Amino acid sequence: MSETRQYDVIIIGAGIIGANLAFEMSKAGYRTLNVDKLPAAGYGSTANSCAIVRTHYSTWAGVAMAYEGFHFWKEWDDYLGITDERGNAGFVQCGGVFIGDDSRYEDKVLPLFDEIGIEYERWDVDELTGRLPGIDTGEHTPPKRPEDDAFWEDPPKQITSAVHTPIAGYITDPQLATHNLQRAAEAKGGEFMFNTEVSGIRVEDGRVAGVDLADGTSIDASIVVNVAGPHSFVINEMAGVADSMAIKTRALRHEVHHVPSPAGFDFEKDGMLVGDDDLGTYFRPEVGNHILVGSQDPECDPQVWVENPDVFDHNITDSQWRAQVLRLARRLPALGVPGEKKGVVDLYDVSDDWIPIYDKTDLPGFYVAIGTSGNQFKNSHIAAYCLTRLIQAVEAGHDHDADPVKVEMPHTGLVMDMSVFSRNREINASSSFSVLG
Ligand SMILES: Cc1cc2nc3c(=O)[nH]c(=O)nc-3n(C[C@H](O)[C@H](O)[C@H](O)COP(=O)(O)OP(=O)(O)OC[C@H]3O[C@@H](n4cnc5c(N)ncnc54)[C@H](O)[C@@H]3O)c2cc1C
Repeated sequence: MSETRQYDVIIIGAGIIGANLAFEMSKAGYRTLNVDKLPAAGYGSTANSCAIVRTHYSTWAGVAMAYEGFHFWKEWDDYLGITDERGNAGFVQCGGVFIGDDSRYEDKVLPLFDEIGIEYERWDVDELTGRLPGIDTGEHTPPKRPEDDAFWEDPPKQITSAVHTPIAGYITDPQLATHNLQRAAEAKGGEFMFNTEVSGIRVEDGRVAGVDLADGTSIDASIVVNVAGPHSFVINEMAGVADSMAIKTRALRHEVHHVPSPAGFDFEKDGMLVGDDDLGTYFRPEVGNHILVGSQDPECDPQVWVENPDVFDHNITDSQWRAQVLRLARRLPALGVPGEKKGVVDLYDVSDDWIPIYDKTDLPGFYVAIGTSGNQFKNSHIAAYCLTRLIQAVEAGHDHDADPVKVEMPHTGLVMDMSVFSRNREINASSSFSVLG
């Protein structure tokens, strides 16, 4: 016999974005329930996020969202309004420097920084080596793999400049940040169910009516939001909306590696976020005086798309470990390359143009916050804030497809036209088509 429970909103997923949506929607007066098949909040792809906060996106919306998101992290404790019994996550504002690919900066990023008012400095090579002692400033473009002999050649010239932004950093513990949001949502009346798998989307009279669970029970709600991360396409297929969306999502496997800082350089204390377009990596300080290094998906690297997000190789591969750590060693020559491979493997939920989908769907009452493309941890609050207002407007009868909802963002006052994140937008040609957004 099936048991029936009643909520205003069911949020499928309790990652950083699902938990943040619960908080924003609870504050707006909705009775929310997050359902997650894992044992706790933030145990999905959020757990392995690098949790980097930076603003150098390639589109106005990308820069504006990230700038707004930075302000939320700066006032994290005040935003939550609670103290988690496990403590609140910390934001380390170490600053960030971005090197290589000057044309992307000149043509796209810096004009957007100027327009939006984001502080930055150009650093010459002397400034860069002064701020990051031991950094090698050779130019290697285009990125290569160590199997390629050209990888080992001396760089033909030096990089000419770098761009530094003080408003960059990282969150020390992405899973804890998600737990903080769970507690903040619960304080506003939100509820969470774990170890509970959604197996179907219930539809009555052409509108969403709730979800079916794998244990045979069901839960009623007239609003259901797909925030299932790399499982987003699975949930869209369950709801029967996948084919009616112009922009699709797919799961892409990614490795992030952890290495000790070079001898004599306390990278945790004196390092910073480095976006190294020239070598196709990014790296940041990690607790324990380590460095965490990820990939910008340069063209020479194979992309591993995953058909079934429940089944993928969780082991670090020799070949990607070598590619990423040796690229880092070219930039920081004193780095010792450890024999033991350490790091994490997880999935991005990638949209066709690497820009998220925060939207309604053709099934009334069914919404999506998906396609976060490896770069939306930093934006969870502003994404949840904007989607809450979109849902409120649509539920009040507004035709968002014909007249897109516009949201004034609370810290910067910038106005976000939510059609940028539409499921039916044209592919955004300004995107980097990579994790850079
Ligand atoms: C390796 C890596 C590095 C990254 N680095 C950064 C970074 O530095 N900065 C940045 O801004 N972003 C980064 N990202 C991206 C960022 O982490 C994601 O955009 C964000 O965490 C997505 O959160 P989410 O809540 O949408 O998804 P998730 O955290 O994946 O949560 C989705 C949840 O849905 C649940 N679920 C799925 N299907 C079902 C079902 N049928 N029933 C019940 N529950 C279900 C899952 O169990 C999961 O807990 C990175 C991502 C990865 C993988």
